[in-house]
Amino acid sequence: MKITNMQLNLVEMDLKTPFVTSLGSVTTRQGIIVAVHDESGQKGYGEAVAFSAPWYTEETVDTCLYMIKEHLAPLILNQTFTHPHEVFSVMASVRKNPMAKASIDMAVWDLYAKLLQKPLYEVIGGTRKEVLAGIAAGAATIEGLIDQIKIAAEDGYRRIKVKIAPGKDADRILAIRESFPDIAILADANSSYSGDPKALLELDGLGLQMIEQPLGQDDLVDHAALQQNLSTPICLDESIHSLDAAKSAIALKSCQIINIKIGRVGGLTEAIRIHDLCQQHGIGVWCGGMLEFGVSRAHNIALATLEGFSIPGDISSSARYWHQDITTPDVKVKNGKVMPFQGEGIGVSINEKRLKEVTIHLEVIK
Ligand SMILES: [Mg+2]
Repeated sequence: MKITNMQLNLVEMDLKTPFVTSLGSVTTRQGIIVAVHDESGQKGYGEAVAFSAPWYTEETVDTCLYMIKEHLAPLILNQTFTHPHEVFSVMASVRKNPMAKASIDMAVWDLYAKLLQKPLYEVIGGTRKEVLAGIAAGAATIEGLIDQIKIAAEDGYRRIKVKIAPGKDADRILAIRESFPDIAILADANSSYSGDPKALLELDGLGLQMIEQPLGQDDLVDHAALQQNLSTPICLDESIHSLDAAKSAIALKSCQIINIKIGRVGGLTEAIRIHDLCQQHGIGVWCGGMLEFGVSRAHNIALATLEGFSIPGDISSSARYWHQDITTPDVKVKNGKVMPFQGEGIGVSINEKRLKEVTIHLEVIK
């Protein structure tokens, strides 16, 4: 594969309903759709999933745009690669910036699978015929949350992820449990318990499927101490930004589960390695979402066909977040499951008209 040019569409779309977390609220989502073109005219697509402000990790849409344009694209353009792993290795000369790197890594994997004329999930060794899907509910009030979960449960979702923060968590979870006795509840703290880890002990008897990222991003040691005192499994999200971080967390026993997000770990290449490592160590994995557009959503589905993804991920229907996505066909969840796309590569095509409508900035790099 020789990548001759890269197109970056900075897109902006309103979410159907605002998404609220302990760290920030998202009403309008921006993202970057990255297309890599090879000599034969074939295209591969990736997506930079950073948010507009650095509340989740340090990257933003603007830092991704800058890093891709100024530092990453020049490493890739007009070079010949035989496998996406080589692209990942070349980008390692740039420190960190995993979401910027992931957007290119994903695009190259899509291109590679299309050149092989195979679905991406097959190329990466996916075996699951159906991908397990859950949903993240984010609302400012308990009533708002219950309404969101009601709709999701009617749509067949079996796992609900709710955002928690000290002071309002137990009430929220008890209210959800009362209305939905059988649904699996995952509580995501986005590090909000760093100052008060003992408050988490109150949540231990509520039958949560897991508590995600209770403490700080760099607090693997404190997470390990907390896990010893909690019977609820701890899942790490923000802390796991690379394979090395996953190795440290496993060695320290900081978690029992890892949420693998392609963007946060620097691409599909690293996501697959983390999956394999977790398989070797009996650590559960699931695929996390980033309120993403259809390109990243399709990559997530491919990733979640790997054997280890036995816990439902944040893989929800496109219609849950968007009036109209930029890809077709839409992702559709039925009874908590999604069928992997069977087309070549990520298996979805870009709706060029829609992409144009929502593009607020365009760059072509040669
Ligand atoms: Mg999370």
